[in-house]
Amino acid sequence: MRFEFATATRIVFGLGALRELAPLAVELGARPMVVSGKSVERVAPLLSLLSARGLKPVPYVVTGEPTTDDVRQGVALARKNACDLVIGFGGGSPMDTAKAIAALLTNPGELLEYLEVIGQGKPLEVPSAPVIAIPTTAGTGAEVTRNAVLTSPEHGVKVSLRSPHMLPRLALVDPELTYSVPPAITASTGLDAFTQLVEPYVTPAASPLTDGLCLEGIRRAARALQRAYRDGGDTQAREDMAIASLFGGLALANAKLGAVHGFAGVLGGLFPAPHGAVCGRLLPEVTAVNIRALRKRDPNNRALARYEEIARLLLGASGAVAEDVIVWSAALCRDLAIPGLATYGITAADFPHIIAGASRASSMKGNPIALTEAELIEILERAW
Ligand code: NAD
Repeated sequence: MRFEFATATRIVFGLGALRELAPLAVELGARPMVVSGKSVERVAPLLSLLSARGLKPVPYVVTGEPTTDDVRQGVALARKNACDLVIGFGGGSPMDTAKAIAALLTNPGELLEYLEVIGQGKPLEVPSAPVIAIPTTAGTGAEVTRNAVLTSPEHGVKVSLRSPHMLPRLALVDPELTYSVPPAITASTGLDAFTQLVEPYVTPAASPLTDGLCLEGIRRAARALQRAYRDGGDTQAREDMAIASLFGGLALANAKLGAVHGFAGVLGGLFPAPHGAVCGRLLPEVTAVNIRALRKRDPNNRALARYEEIARLLLGASGAVAEDVIVWSAALCRDLAIPGLATYGITAADFPHIIAGASRASSMKGNPIALTEAELIEILERAW
């Protein structure tokens, strides 16, 4: 057995942890750029904390899931203001933007040279400017991952900028910041977290270290996601989801994902669909097709026992079987009002294009079994 584990240099977790930001930031830089989502009110306390400490933050807003142009413009603004620290505050979108800006601040050349799939995929040689990642959703775990997911509108695809240099120097996780997340976003982001705990547990790339994180994260997400959805003020549920999200990030960055994310990257590049909702809708269908394919073609694959272990956790019953994961996760999506893929304007005519893209996606290589084209079509049909 051989495995590696790499993560943010430091993780600080706790209610009110945001208040510790300023002294931690001064250790890492003098001129921070603060990348945040569209809400001015949400980021205002953070800017005040930094200003009170004598730092003059340079704000930069990203309004949706980040595009390659968002990164280019952010790099230009950071250069103009001589920023030496990038703080990402928000969901996965601002955190990923911050990580990509920090990488391009120190590395020469154009973004496309470093992007996988649509670019040359050159390695980032120079360490990024330091990054502090502060999640305000419980979903992506991007505060501890080494990639940034970017949409290239001209290519119609989401791709990753990826490098060990992109691991944040500090992940500051304060569950209080998620209290204001409305139910629909709690649902979609929470399903992203849940998927990021299931896929790294059943992938052949799992390690004992990621296994522990996945099982503990699944346990917490299973008991907390519906509660957080129904009552955003349920502080225990919010804390559980913040931990589940963090553990999902730790797991995916050190194992692999699977077919759900293989599809989600392509769908997110082509259609205006929230990443987590797409993941949630696909999870029961990918699980069903995976389990059937494993039973038929690879019955000794350890992923079957792993699905069964997840089922035991979800149901709290020692007699649970792998297929119970399908039923449980489909019921969860119904409870959380997750719509079918057709909602986003996807039609059957798009399937061949989606399947071609998904087959090339790096996440697809983490799936416990290689799926046939007919199986990939079936997944889309079932999730439609
Ligand atoms: P997001 O960052 O796009 O945010 C979704 C919405 O939630 C936005 O409208 C935002 O304004 C709102 N929001 C955020 N925090 C809030 C709060 N506290 N209260 C109220 N509203 C709030 O969504 P996300 O799901 O967190 O991130 C999605 C992006 O992350 C996608 O681009 C996805 O591909 C990427 N991602 C990256 C990784 C990684 O490892 N880098 C992993 C998974 C997903």
